[in-house]
Amino acid sequence: MARRAAAKIDPAQPDMPAKIRAVDAWYWAVNNAIRLTAGPFAHAGHEYLAEPLRDTHPNQVAMKGSQMGWTEKSVLKTLHGMIHRRYPQGVLHLFPTADDVGDFSKARFNPLIEHNPDHIGRYVRSTDAANIKRINSAMLYLRGARATQRIQGLASSSSKLKSIPVDRIVEDEYDEMDPSMVALATERVAHSTVKEIEKLSTPTIPDYGVDADYKKSDQQAWAILCRSCNTRTILELEFPKCLSRRRDGSAFRSCVRCAAAIFPRDGEWIAQAPTVKDLRGYWISQLNSLYVDPTVILNEYERISELTPGERQVFYNSKLAMAYVDAANRIKPSDLWACTSADPMDTRHPGPAAMGVDVGSWLHVVIGYKPAPGVVKVCYAGRHKDWNELRDLGIRFAVDCCVIDMEPEIHKAREFQRGQAFPVFLCDYQVHQRGDARWNLDERQVVINRTEILDRVHTAATTAGRFILPRRSQELEEYVIEMCNLVKVLVEHKDGSKAYEYKQVGPDHYRHATAYLLLALERVSVYQPVIFADRSQGPAAAVMDYDPLSLGSSRGPGMGQAIIDYNPFGR
Ligand SMILES: [Zn+2]
Repeated sequence: MARRAAAKIDPAQPDMPAKIRAVDAWYWAVNNAIRLTAGPFAHAGHEYLAEPLRDTHPNQVAMKGSQMGWTEKSVLKTLHGMIHRRYPQGVLHLFPTADDVGDFSKARFNPLIEHNPDHIGRYVRSTDAANIKRINSAMLYLRGARATQRIQGLASSSSKLKSIPVDRIVEDEYDEMDPSMVALATERVAHSTVKEIEKLSTPTIPDYGVDADYKKSDQQAWAILCRSCNTRTILELEFPKCLSRRRDGSAFRSCVRCAAAIFPRDGEWIAQAPTVKDLRGYWISQLNSLYVDPTVILNEYERISELTPGERQVFYNSKLAMAYVDAANRIKPSDLWACTSADPMDTRHPGPAAMGVDVGSWLHVVIGYKPAPGVVKVCYAGRHKDWNELRDLGIRFAVDCCVIDMEPEIHKAREFQRGQAFPVFLCDYQVHQRGDARWNLDERQVVINRTEILDRVHTAATTAGRFILPRRSQELEEYVIEMCNLVKVLVEHKDGSKAYEYKQVGPDHYRHATAYLLLALERVSVYQPVIFADRSQGPAAAVMDYDPLSLGSSRGPGMGQAIIDYNPFGR
């Protein structure tokens, strides 16, 4: 393609190269031999960058391995466009943190200006701030996307991201960004006529960030043509079959059909979902990098079981450009379907039961009890609009303890708490709380580490016999989806410390409501069904206490109900 473009230059029109340079960012970079930190921008070894550099699709996403040159590509495209006045309102490059902005400015941007005085430097008007550059007549803003503060769980709209409109936004490493900040930044192209959004990131976990977006795109992949049999191989899709060993043990990229050696320079971008027109997606891994020896990748893959979970994550994400989650870090729908029983959801229960409520635009309610020590039986899951319905549920299920989300509606939660006959605790998820939940009986509040309680839900749901669900229904389908929408990842903090955190990959209300249920059950005793009333023992009292006309006021089990519902085998 490159050679074809060059061949078309008409010698009778000597200004033709200048015209091509103005509209073609790839030609501009190669023809001017733009110098990057590592040397001049070269086509050889970066053939896969040519088409993306020229691509003017307004909505792009790139899922890439690390060190693939994609950040440079995006910067060159920005600079080319600004120098040629394609983005009169300016451009915003967004990075995960303010520190990343500083590093980028120093290590990548400033060298570009210094090394290319004629082609870039002379268009840059000096601005003192490291995070704002004037290029030709427009502004380039470099910003970090971390929310500066949170007020009652709502991200404060960072003034730096709100202000002025731009024509193009580049979101670099956006899996690391605060999603609410990304959404805020994206609004800044709303009034542009150019409206270009380019997202790029090393993937992290499945169905999250760049992995989720790439799946919605036209899914371009780099398909290498075999010189022996004319078949195309996409290394990312065929790994590890696409690497073969020589006799000396070294590995080479090989054709999936005939096993001949193949070369990334013989590739071209091919859409795997060509009917998608509104989102262009690129996927490229270090399998296509000439600077990474395939032997190293294959060796590491073959001893993957010896790696730590953190190393495995890095291998899949940075080298193979694949989203990855350790099987132990996400509940699978099949885990939960294995927990279902033959019982339909209950409409009432003799108690003692517990209730967990997640507060959002809906109130997600999960009610359960302990049929035996250490066993949780969920007998009801539902969505409600009205807080008064919670009160009715609490009475019908003889709820002995309710735990409810403190945020985002602390006032309504407090109001609800005051009006109930049964104890209601507001739950505060905290990062620094360690170990067991801390119950504050005076303030009716419970504090727990977020990762810890979400882990407990995971353990319960994946340990045979510990967690019993009602039989399959429409609401349970939703419940199962939401239970699986949290993924545990190891997050490295600035100070080098590492900790597991749960990341949301879709609606997760029922997962939290279940976490609150498990907390509430800490304060509820094991359910004692009355099967044969032995009048010489305790249950007699329960029978006498029971008053069918004042549901919920008595904690005694209703006999008939208990006999019908109770099944000692839980199935
Ligand atoms: Zn072949």
